[in-house]
Amino acid sequence: METAQDILKRYGIGSTPDRIGILNVFIQHRVAFSIVEIQQRAGLSCNKTTFYRNIEMLLEKDIIHKISDLDGTVRYSLSLADSLLSVHPTEHVHFRCLHCHTLTCLFQAVVQSPLLPAGYTITRTQVLVTGICEHCREAIHVLEDYTLN
Ligand SMILES: [Zn+2]
Ligand SMILES: [Zn+2]
Repeated sequence: METAQDILKRYGIGSTPDRIGILNVFIQHRVAFSIVEIQQRAGLSCNKTTFYRNIEMLLEKDIIHKISDLDGTVRYSLSLADSLLSVHPTEHVHFRCLHCHTLTCLFQAVVQSPLLPAGYTITRTQVLVTGICEHCREAIHVLEDYTLN
């Protein structure tokens, strides 16, 4: 896995402590975070304007991408599955675990665009799947509680 510095360098973006701080949150946890969660975890000292500007820039470069969560909260996640996937990421399934509540990018699960009636153009396809993640499945062993709902 690349370091935050490696990623910034590859995209021709200057390394600043704030940008490295933001990227490290994603690299270390590999799940999607809200703006508030990113700010808290990064423990950044920078002002809000700089923070939002950095987020916007990472979005523009496709280093991170937005996900609309079940409750409408916008979350952000790293677009790079690993160092091998360096081109634009494909639309992939997002998985919301009902047990640990993490939102994860499933890069292996590519979203196929649906066939639409004539006249409609797709700009984005978002698929959000809920269930039990691999870590929780091992931990809880019991799925009945969730499958009943
Ligand atoms: Zn889980
Ligand atoms: Zn994603």
